[in-house]
Amino acid sequence: MRPPAGGLRKWAEVVGVDWKVPAPPAGGLPMLTSDAVKTKAREIGFDLCGVAPAGAHPELAALRDWLDRGYAGDMAYMARTADRRADVRAVMPSARTVVALGTLYNTDRPHSTEIDEPETALISRYAWGDDYHDVLAGRTRALGAWMRGAHGAPCETRVYVDTGPVQERVYARYAGLGWIGKNTCLINPDIGSWLFLSEVLCSVDLEPDPPSVDQCGACTLCLEACPTGAFPAPGVLDATRCLSYLTIETKGTIPPARRADLGAHVYGCDICQEVCPYNAVAPVSDDPAWQARPPLDRPSLVELWSRSDAGLRKAIRKGPMTRARVRRLRRNVAVALGNSGTAAAGAALSPEPGATRPDADSIRDPLVQEHVEWARAELAGRRR
Ligand code: SF4
Ligand code: SF4
Repeated sequence: MRPPAGGLRKWAEVVGVDWKVPAPPAGGLPMLTSDAVKTKAREIGFDLCGVAPAGAHPELAALRDWLDRGYAGDMAYMARTADRRADVRAVMPSARTVVALGTLYNTDRPHSTEIDEPETALISRYAWGDDYHDVLAGRTRALGAWMRGAHGAPCETRVYVDTGPVQERVYARYAGLGWIGKNTCLINPDIGSWLFLSEVLCSVDLEPDPPSVDQCGACTLCLEACPTGAFPAPGVLDATRCLSYLTIETKGTIPPARRADLGAHVYGCDICQEVCPYNAVAPVSDDPAWQARPPLDRPSLVELWSRSDAGLRKAIRKGPMTRARVRRLRRNVAVALGNSGTAAAGAALSPEPGATRPDADSIRDPLVQEHVEWARAELAGRRR
Protein backbone atom coordinates (compact mmCIF):
# COMPACT_ATOMS: atom_id res chain seq x y z
CA MET A 1 0.00 0.00 0.00
CA ARG A 2 1.25 3.45 -0.85
CA PRO A 3 1.62 6.13 1.87
CA PRO A 4 -1.15 8.70 1.34
CA ALA A 5 -0.66 12.41 1.02
CA GLY A 6 -0.52 14.10 4.40
CA GLY A 7 2.84 12.99 5.73
CA LEU A 8 3.96 10.44 8.27
CA ARG A 9 1.26 11.31 10.83
CA LYS A 10 -1.46 10.54 8.27
CA TRP A 11 0.36 7.39 7.21
CA ALA A 12 0.62 6.28 10.80
CA GLU A 13 -3.16 6.69 11.17
CA VAL A 14 -3.85 4.68 8.04
CA VAL A 15 -1.65 1.74 9.06
CA GLY A 16 -2.89 1.82 12.63
CA VAL A 17 0.26 3.03 14.31
CA ASP A 18 -0.16 4.61 17.73
CA TRP A 19 1.29 7.99 17.01
CA LYS A 20 1.51 8.94 20.64
CA VAL A 21 3.69 6.81 22.86
CA PRO A 22 1.30 5.01 25.24
CA ALA A 23 1.72 4.85 28.98
CA PRO A 24 3.83 1.91 30.20
CA PRO A 25 1.76 -1.24 30.76
CA ALA A 26 0.76 -2.25 34.27
CA GLY A 27 3.71 -3.89 35.93
CA GLY A 28 6.11 -2.25 33.49
CA LEU A 29 6.64 -5.43 31.45
CA PRO A 30 7.74 -4.76 27.86
CA MET A 31 5.22 -5.79 25.19
CA LEU A 32 7.69 -5.73 22.32
CA THR A 33 8.41 -9.19 20.95
CA SER A 34 9.85 -10.45 17.66
CA ASP A 35 6.49 -11.95 16.70
CA ALA A 36 4.67 -8.69 17.42
CA VAL A 37 7.17 -6.74 15.33
CA LYS A 38 6.70 -9.15 12.40
CA THR A 39 2.92 -8.90 12.62
CA LYS A 40 3.07 -5.10 12.59
CA ALA A 41 5.63 -5.14 9.72
CA ARG A 42 3.23 -7.24 7.64
CA GLU A 43 0.37 -4.85 8.44
CA ILE A 44 2.48 -1.91 7.28
CA GLY A 45 3.18 -3.68 3.99
CA PHE A 46 6.60 -5.30 4.28
CA ASP A 47 6.96 -8.68 2.58
CA LEU A 48 9.81 -9.92 4.78
CA CYS A 49 10.77 -9.19 8.37
CA GLY A 50 13.37 -10.83 10.57
CA VAL A 51 15.44 -10.05 13.62
CA ALA A 52 19.24 -10.13 13.87
CA PRO A 53 21.49 -9.34 16.81
CA ALA A 54 23.35 -6.06 16.39
CA GLY A 55 27.04 -6.79 16.26
CA ALA A 56 30.18 -7.22 14.22
CA HIS A 57 29.21 -10.26 12.15
CA PRO A 58 32.25 -11.77 10.35
CA GLU A 59 31.08 -10.83 6.81
CA LEU A 60 31.11 -7.15 7.74
CA ALA A 61 34.92 -7.18 7.82
CA ALA A 62 35.15 -8.00 4.10
CA LEU A 63 34.38 -4.38 3.23
CA ARG A 64 37.93 -3.25 4.07
CA ASP A 65 39.53 -5.74 1.71
CA TRP A 66 37.02 -4.82 -1.01
CA LEU A 67 37.91 -1.15 -0.66
CA ASP A 68 41.65 -1.88 -0.61
CA ARG A 69 41.31 -3.69 -3.94
CA GLY A 70 39.84 -0.54 -5.49
CA TYR A 71 36.53 -2.17 -6.31
CA ALA A 72 34.57 0.86 -5.07
CA GLY A 73 36.04 3.09 -7.80
CA ASP A 74 35.07 6.72 -7.27
CA MET A 75 32.54 5.96 -4.53
CA ALA A 76 34.68 7.75 -1.95
CA TYR A 77 31.79 7.85 0.51
CA MET A 78 32.24 4.10 0.98
CA ALA A 79 35.78 4.56 2.30
CA ARG A 80 34.78 7.59 4.36
CA THR A 81 32.11 5.58 6.15
CA ALA A 82 33.95 2.25 6.32
CA ASP A 83 34.46 2.36 10.11
CA ARG A 84 30.79 2.96 10.71
CA ARG A 85 29.82 0.28 8.20
CA ALA A 86 31.83 -2.29 10.17
CA ASP A 87 29.24 -2.50 12.98
CA VAL A 88 25.82 -0.86 13.42
CA ARG A 89 26.81 -0.04 16.99
CA ALA A 90 29.16 2.55 15.49
CA VAL A 91 26.12 4.48 14.24
CA MET A 92 23.91 3.70 17.25
CA PRO A 93 25.92 2.61 20.30
CA SER A 94 22.82 1.43 22.17
CA ALA A 95 21.75 -0.92 19.33
CA ARG A 96 21.03 -4.49 20.46
CA THR A 97 18.84 -5.63 17.59
CA VAL A 98 18.45 -5.05 13.86
CA VAL A 99 14.95 -5.57 12.50
CA ALA A 100 15.58 -6.30 8.81
CA LEU A 101 12.79 -5.63 6.32
CA GLY A 102 12.32 -6.69 2.71
CA THR A 103 9.93 -5.24 0.17
CA LEU A 104 9.28 -7.02 -3.11
CA TYR A 105 9.36 -4.69 -6.12
CA ASN A 106 9.11 -7.17 -8.96
CA THR A 107 6.46 -6.43 -11.59
CA ASP A 108 5.08 -8.40 -14.51
CA ARG A 109 7.16 -6.62 -17.16
CA PRO A 110 9.73 -8.64 -19.17
CA HIS A 111 13.37 -9.06 -18.23
CA SER A 112 15.97 -7.10 -20.21
CA THR A 113 17.38 -10.43 -21.41
CA GLU A 114 14.01 -11.15 -23.04
CA ILE A 115 14.04 -7.91 -25.03
CA ASP A 116 15.77 -8.46 -28.34
CA GLU A 117 15.32 -4.95 -29.71
CA PRO A 118 18.48 -2.82 -30.04
CA GLU A 119 16.35 0.34 -30.16
CA THR A 120 14.74 -0.26 -26.73
CA ALA A 121 16.30 1.55 -23.77
CA LEU A 122 17.09 -0.76 -20.84
CA ILE A 123 16.37 0.67 -17.41
CA SER A 124 16.91 -1.23 -14.17
CA ARG A 125 13.69 -2.67 -12.74
CA TYR A 126 13.99 -0.89 -9.39
CA ALA A 127 14.02 2.50 -11.14
CA TRP A 128 10.71 2.24 -13.00
CA GLY A 129 8.50 3.50 -10.19
CA ASP A 130 8.69 5.81 -7.21
CA ASP A 131 11.87 6.42 -5.23
CA TYR A 132 12.08 3.56 -2.74
CA HIS A 133 14.07 5.71 -0.33
CA ASP A 134 11.11 8.04 0.10
CA VAL A 135 8.41 5.37 0.10
CA LEU A 136 10.18 3.00 2.49
CA ALA A 137 11.46 5.70 4.83
CA GLY A 138 7.85 6.46 5.75
CA ARG A 139 6.95 2.81 6.26
CA THR A 140 10.13 1.94 8.18
CA ARG A 141 9.75 4.99 10.43
CA ALA A 142 6.17 3.95 11.12
CA LEU A 143 7.42 0.55 12.31
CA GLY A 144 10.11 2.17 14.47
CA ALA A 145 7.54 4.49 16.06
CA TRP A 146 5.24 1.55 16.74
CA MET A 147 8.12 -0.40 18.35
CA ARG A 148 8.92 2.47 20.68
CA GLY A 149 5.30 2.67 21.71
CA ALA A 150 4.85 -1.09 22.06
CA HIS A 151 7.91 -1.45 24.27
CA GLY A 152 6.20 0.54 26.98
CA ALA A 153 9.49 1.82 28.36
CA PRO A 154 12.07 4.24 27.02
CA CYS A 155 14.03 2.80 24.11
CA GLU A 156 15.85 4.04 21.05
CA THR A 157 15.26 3.22 17.39
CA ARG A 158 16.89 4.42 14.19
CA VAL A 159 15.84 3.60 10.66
CA TYR A 160 17.83 3.25 7.44
CA VAL A 161 16.82 2.72 3.83
CA ASP A 162 19.85 1.90 1.70
CA THR A 163 21.64 5.23 2.04
CA GLY A 164 22.96 4.88 5.61
CA PRO A 165 26.32 3.41 6.67
CA VAL A 166 24.81 -0.01 7.33
CA GLN A 167 25.70 -3.20 5.48
CA GLU A 168 22.07 -4.14 5.05
CA ARG A 169 22.50 -7.45 3.29
CA VAL A 170 24.68 -8.88 6.07
CA TYR A 171 22.14 -8.03 8.76
CA ALA A 172 19.29 -9.24 6.52
CA ARG A 173 21.12 -12.54 6.17
CA TYR A 174 21.52 -12.86 9.95
CA ALA A 175 17.84 -11.98 10.33
CA GLY A 176 16.94 -14.96 8.13
CA LEU A 177 15.63 -12.96 5.16
CA GLY A 178 17.87 -14.75 2.68
CA TRP A 179 21.49 -15.41 1.76
CA ILE A 180 23.94 -13.24 -0.14
CA GLY A 181 24.28 -14.89 -3.53
CA LYS A 182 27.26 -15.14 -5.83
CA ASN A 183 25.79 -12.08 -7.58
CA THR A 184 26.08 -10.22 -4.22
CA CYS A 185 22.29 -9.74 -3.98
CA LEU A 186 20.20 -10.90 -1.04
CA ILE A 187 18.14 -13.88 -2.21
CA ASN A 188 15.08 -15.18 -0.43
CA PRO A 189 14.43 -18.83 -1.34
CA ASP A 190 10.68 -18.19 -1.79
CA ILE A 191 10.44 -14.76 -3.42
CA GLY A 192 13.85 -14.19 -5.01
CA SER A 193 16.03 -11.09 -5.01
CA TRP A 194 13.88 -8.24 -6.36
CA LEU A 195 13.91 -6.77 -2.88
CA PHE A 196 14.36 -3.35 -1.34
CA LEU A 197 15.96 -3.63 2.09
CA SER A 198 15.47 -1.34 5.05
CA GLU A 199 15.97 -1.77 8.78
CA VAL A 200 15.15 -0.54 12.25
CA LEU A 201 18.03 -0.50 14.73
CA CYS A 202 16.66 -0.92 18.23
CA SER A 203 18.09 -0.73 21.73
CA VAL A 204 15.86 -3.59 22.95
CA ASP A 205 16.97 -7.24 22.92
CA LEU A 206 14.57 -9.25 20.76
CA GLU A 207 14.58 -12.97 20.01
CA PRO A 208 16.75 -13.33 16.87
CA ASP A 209 15.91 -15.49 13.86
CA PRO A 210 18.29 -18.19 12.63
CA PRO A 211 20.62 -16.87 9.89
CA SER A 212 19.89 -17.95 6.32
CA VAL A 213 22.13 -20.52 4.67
CA ASP A 214 23.70 -20.25 1.23
CA GLN A 215 21.59 -21.99 -1.41
CA CYS A 216 23.54 -21.06 -4.55
CA GLY A 217 25.13 -24.50 -4.61
CA ALA A 218 27.12 -25.22 -7.78
CA CYS A 219 25.22 -22.64 -9.85
CA THR A 220 27.32 -19.99 -11.59
CA LEU A 221 24.73 -18.54 -14.00
CA CYS A 222 25.10 -14.95 -12.77
CA LEU A 223 28.91 -15.04 -13.00
CA GLU A 224 28.74 -16.30 -16.58
CA ALA A 225 25.99 -13.90 -17.68
CA CYS A 226 27.64 -10.66 -16.58
CA PRO A 227 28.51 -8.86 -19.83
CA THR A 228 31.49 -7.05 -18.32
CA GLY A 229 33.11 -9.75 -16.18
CA ALA A 230 32.43 -7.69 -13.05
CA PHE A 231 32.81 -10.63 -10.65
CA PRO A 232 36.50 -11.32 -9.94
CA ALA A 233 35.30 -14.10 -7.63
CA PRO A 234 31.92 -15.51 -6.61
CA GLY A 235 30.21 -13.01 -4.31
CA VAL A 236 32.75 -10.26 -5.03
CA LEU A 237 31.74 -7.36 -7.28
CA ASP A 238 34.27 -5.06 -8.91
CA ALA A 239 31.89 -2.12 -9.07
CA THR A 240 34.12 -0.27 -11.53
CA ARG A 241 33.29 -2.90 -14.16
CA CYS A 242 29.58 -3.02 -13.41
CA LEU A 243 27.12 -1.28 -15.75
CA SER A 244 25.23 0.09 -12.76
CA TYR A 245 28.37 1.93 -11.67
CA LEU A 246 29.17 3.14 -15.18
CA THR A 247 25.66 4.47 -15.86
CA ILE A 248 24.76 5.78 -12.39
CA GLU A 249 27.83 6.42 -10.25
CA THR A 250 30.19 7.69 -12.95
CA LYS A 251 29.72 11.44 -12.92
CA GLY A 252 31.98 12.49 -15.78
CA THR A 253 33.19 10.78 -18.91
CA ILE A 254 32.44 7.11 -19.40
CA PRO A 255 35.80 5.61 -20.42
CA PRO A 256 35.69 5.17 -24.22
CA ALA A 257 36.90 1.59 -23.94
CA ARG A 258 33.86 0.78 -21.78
CA ARG A 259 31.14 2.49 -23.81
CA ALA A 260 30.37 -0.47 -26.04
CA ASP A 261 29.75 -2.52 -22.87
CA LEU A 262 26.68 -0.41 -22.13
CA GLY A 263 24.75 -1.80 -25.07
CA ALA A 264 21.25 -0.36 -24.61
CA HIS A 265 21.61 0.04 -20.83
CA VAL A 266 20.86 3.67 -19.95
CA TYR A 267 20.35 3.26 -16.20
CA GLY A 268 21.63 0.27 -14.24
CA CYS A 269 21.63 -3.40 -15.17
CA ASP A 270 19.65 -6.42 -13.95
CA ILE A 271 21.22 -9.27 -15.89
CA CYS A 272 22.83 -11.06 -12.94
CA GLN A 273 19.47 -11.08 -11.16
CA GLU A 274 17.40 -11.98 -14.21
CA VAL A 275 19.34 -15.19 -14.83
CA CYS A 276 19.10 -16.32 -11.20
CA PRO A 277 16.90 -19.42 -10.92
CA TYR A 278 15.40 -18.07 -7.69
CA ASN A 279 13.87 -15.22 -9.72
CA ALA A 280 12.42 -17.52 -12.38
CA VAL A 281 9.12 -17.72 -10.53
CA ALA A 282 9.38 -14.59 -8.41
CA PRO A 283 6.01 -13.20 -7.36
CA VAL A 284 5.02 -9.73 -8.53
CA SER A 285 4.03 -6.78 -6.39
CA ASP A 286 0.76 -4.94 -6.89
CA ASP A 287 2.06 -1.93 -4.97
CA PRO A 288 1.42 1.12 -7.19
CA ALA A 289 4.73 2.59 -6.03
CA TRP A 290 6.78 0.06 -8.00
CA GLN A 291 4.75 -0.16 -11.22
CA ALA A 292 6.49 1.17 -14.33
CA ARG A 293 5.68 4.76 -15.18
CA PRO A 294 4.54 4.88 -18.82
CA PRO A 295 7.52 6.99 -20.04
CA LEU A 296 9.93 4.46 -18.49
CA ASP A 297 8.10 1.32 -19.60
CA ARG A 298 10.32 0.01 -22.42
CA PRO A 299 10.83 3.39 -24.11
CA SER A 300 12.78 3.47 -27.33
CA LEU A 301 16.18 5.16 -27.18
CA VAL A 302 15.06 7.69 -29.79
CA GLU A 303 11.92 8.42 -27.77
CA LEU A 304 14.00 9.14 -24.66
CA TRP A 305 16.50 11.22 -26.61
CA SER A 306 13.76 13.25 -28.28
CA ARG A 307 12.27 14.38 -24.98
CA SER A 308 12.97 17.93 -23.91
CA ASP A 309 14.90 18.38 -20.66
CA ALA A 310 11.65 19.32 -18.95
CA GLY A 311 10.03 16.19 -20.38
CA LEU A 312 12.86 13.97 -19.10
CA ARG A 313 12.74 15.66 -15.70
CA LYS A 314 9.02 15.04 -15.50
CA ALA A 315 9.44 11.36 -16.43
CA ILE A 316 11.95 10.69 -13.64
CA ARG A 317 10.51 13.06 -11.04
CA LYS A 318 10.42 11.54 -7.54
CA GLY A 319 11.89 8.33 -8.91
CA PRO A 320 15.32 6.73 -8.32
CA MET A 321 16.63 8.05 -11.66
CA THR A 322 16.82 11.58 -10.30
CA ARG A 323 20.17 10.36 -8.93
CA ALA A 324 21.65 10.47 -12.44
CA ARG A 325 19.97 13.78 -13.35
CA VAL A 326 19.06 14.72 -16.88
CA ARG A 327 22.62 15.48 -18.01
CA ARG A 328 24.00 12.06 -17.16
CA LEU A 329 20.91 10.31 -18.42
CA ARG A 330 21.31 12.14 -21.74
CA ARG A 331 24.98 11.06 -21.80
CA ASN A 332 23.98 7.42 -21.31
CA VAL A 333 21.27 7.57 -23.97
CA ALA A 334 23.76 9.04 -26.45
CA VAL A 335 26.13 6.10 -25.86
CA ALA A 336 23.30 3.58 -26.17
CA LEU A 337 22.16 5.20 -29.43
CA GLY A 338 25.69 4.81 -30.74
CA ASN A 339 25.65 1.15 -29.72
CA SER A 340 22.25 0.49 -31.29
CA GLY A 341 23.48 0.82 -34.85
CA THR A 342 20.02 1.77 -36.12
CA ALA A 343 19.22 4.30 -38.82
CA ALA A 344 16.81 5.99 -36.41
CA ALA A 345 19.69 6.54 -33.97
CA GLY A 346 21.75 8.13 -36.73
CA ALA A 347 18.88 10.45 -37.59
CA ALA A 348 18.31 11.42 -33.96
CA LEU A 349 21.98 12.29 -33.41
CA SER A 350 22.51 13.92 -36.80
CA PRO A 351 23.97 17.45 -36.65
CA GLU A 352 22.14 18.29 -39.89
CA PRO A 353 19.32 20.84 -39.79
CA GLY A 354 15.97 19.14 -39.56
CA ALA A 355 17.21 16.27 -37.38
CA THR A 356 14.65 15.12 -34.83
CA ARG A 357 16.57 16.33 -31.80
CA PRO A 358 14.94 18.40 -29.08
CA ASP A 359 16.12 21.90 -28.28
CA ALA A 360 17.57 21.01 -24.89
CA ASP A 361 20.31 22.67 -22.85
CA SER A 362 21.64 19.29 -21.73
CA ILE A 363 22.44 18.33 -25.35
CA ARG A 364 24.75 21.33 -25.62
CA ASP A 365 26.57 20.33 -22.42
CA PRO A 366 30.24 19.50 -23.24
CA LEU A 367 30.00 16.15 -21.42
CA VAL A 368 26.99 15.11 -23.46
CA GLN A 369 28.47 16.47 -26.67
CA GLU A 370 31.61 14.38 -26.22
CA HIS A 371 29.50 11.22 -25.96
CA VAL A 372 27.33 12.30 -28.91
CA GLU A 373 30.48 12.68 -31.05
CA TRP A 374 31.56 9.19 -30.02
CA ALA A 375 28.14 7.79 -30.86
CA ARG A 376 28.11 9.46 -34.28
CA ALA A 377 31.53 7.99 -35.05
CA GLU A 378 30.32 4.55 -33.94
CA LEU A 379 27.26 4.78 -36.16
CA ALA A 380 29.34 6.04 -39.11
CA GLY A 381 31.83 3.20 -38.60
CA ARG A 382 29.04 0.64 -38.69
CA ARG A 383 27.75 2.06 -41.98
CA ARG A 384 31.12 1.63 -43.67
S1 SF4 B 1 24.49 -5.58 -12.76
FE1 SF4 B 1 25.06 -6.21 -14.84
S2 SF4 B 1 27.14 -5.42 -15.16
FE2 SF4 B 1 26.71 -5.35 -12.96
S3 SF4 B 1 27.52 -7.26 -12.16
FE3 SF4 B 1 25.35 -7.64 -12.63
S4 SF4 B 1 25.35 -8.42 -14.73
FE4 SF4 B 1 27.34 -7.49 -14.37
S1 SF4 C 1 22.43 -17.19 -10.42
FE1 SF4 C 1 23.02 -19.03 -9.28
S2 SF4 C 1 25.01 -18.52 -8.38
FE2 SF4 C 1 24.08 -16.61 -9.03
S3 SF4 C 1 23.06 -15.84 -7.22
FE3 SF4 C 1 21.53 -17.02 -8.37
S4 SF4 C 1 21.65 -19.10 -7.52
FE4 SF4 C 1 23.48 -18.00 -6.85
